[in-house]
Amino acid sequence: MTSADSGIIAAIATAPGRGGIGVVRISGPQLGPFIEAFLGFTPQPRHAHLCVFRDPQKLPLDEGIALFFPAPNSFTGEDVLELQGHGGPAVLQLLLASCFEQGARPAQPGEFTRRAYLNDKLDLAQAESVADLIDAASGAAARCALRSLSGEFSARIHALVSGLTDLRMLVEASLDFPEEDIDFLAAADASGKLATLQLALQQLRSNAQQGSLLREGIRVVLIGQPNVGKSSLLNCLAGQELAIVTPIAGTTRDTVRETILIEGVPLHIIDTAGLRDTEDEVERMGIARTWAAVDQATVALLLVDAQHGVTAAEQTIMARMPTSLPLLTLHNKIDLGLELPNAAANTLYVSAKTGAGIDALRAALLQIAGWQPEGEGIFMARERHLVALAEAAQRIERAQHQRAALEFFAEELRLAQLALSRITGEFSADDLLGEIFGRFCIGK
Ligand code: GDP
Repeated sequence: MTSADSGIIAAIATAPGRGGIGVVRISGPQLGPFIEAFLGFTPQPRHAHLCVFRDPQKLPLDEGIALFFPAPNSFTGEDVLELQGHGGPAVLQLLLASCFEQGARPAQPGEFTRRAYLNDKLDLAQAESVADLIDAASGAAARCALRSLSGEFSARIHALVSGLTDLRMLVEASLDFPEEDIDFLAAADASGKLATLQLALQQLRSNAQQGSLLREGIRVVLIGQPNVGKSSLLNCLAGQELAIVTPIAGTTRDTVRETILIEGVPLHIIDTAGLRDTEDEVERMGIARTWAAVDQATVALLLVDAQHGVTAAEQTIMARMPTSLPLLTLHNKIDLGLELPNAAANTLYVSAKTGAGIDALRAALLQIAGWQPEGEGIFMARERHLVALAEAAQRIERAQHQRAALEFFAEELRLAQLALSRITGEFSADDLLGEIFGRFCIGK
């Protein structure tokens, strides 16, 4: 059975475990007969019906609320039935099993949202933001995802695509009437229009990059001898912010020591404590993974005890770090009343105990990552969006240099438009859809 087939799908939409309420969601092109058989009556659209849910043998399973959303005014664009029962795993499993007995099949991860996309209720960028909203690690990330879900990101893409379409029409007109003595492009200020589009795209890329930071976070390599205060520093940095973050792609749990949040931006701390020469095969594999994570890091934090400064041991490990990795040296325990040298570049003095210097450290980390705290209009963006935006920017840049050769000019504009349309999913291969929706949770 492929994920794209139609038919009735059902899943528990609420999180596993016990809760006050649990929801079973059912979607299908025509749920009428299913609902009639399941509930014994046809509910009024969008009306809460308190009723007893029964199995096919008419034995009661639970009492709860049935909600019917007829197509097309539902999340998936199909008929949708929601059963709100008591939120226990056993009772919800019974309800679900009963749905299967009546002809539904288990929904695959993200299948409800996939149907919403296929029925034009959401475009691809919006569908992705559904998962991003659920996975959001902070309030800031959730707000960004919601902005994308509401279509603000897509609207900006559409505006760019429509600008490009207008320009392409001008070019086509020039190509169609080569003998005319009018320079359509000059007359319509094609160059100025292209420059305006370029600027809008640049702004959008910057907003998207910020969103991507909120989603992916920053990878911070932590270097430090035992007892210099690494754990104390992380606790102090984390403060009250609780990190609930799913591991980012390419970072296994054993390379990330922990994830903390700064202004909602996740900081994945990659611990180098275990990086030592060893004969042990298993340990070696772990070390290889850590080095791979170090290679992708944004910044290295070298933590030293201010009483000793940077010693030979730290110098050895620093020498093995990629030269391109920005390094911040932190002298910890300044509360011990030490005489501090003049501040050097990329060097900060902190006390994990008293919190002195920690705000400066937070600011420095965010600055290195490129975070703009005052950033407005940030969109939750994924790597694939950034790649597409970069490609569009490159195409437009090339078009700027091709204005004399109209065919090439037109072709670059077409390719820029294509790259942008991939974001919202106008042109999307099936495997991309599989990749995107396969990462959703079941029931969404
Ligand atoms: P780790 O082994 O690098 O993780 O170091 P810990 O965070 O466990 O700290 C080692 C010891 O140093 C503990 O006794 C901490 O209380 C102490 N310590 C950590 N940071 C500071 C600091 O800023 N000032 C002082 N005075 N002691 C600290």
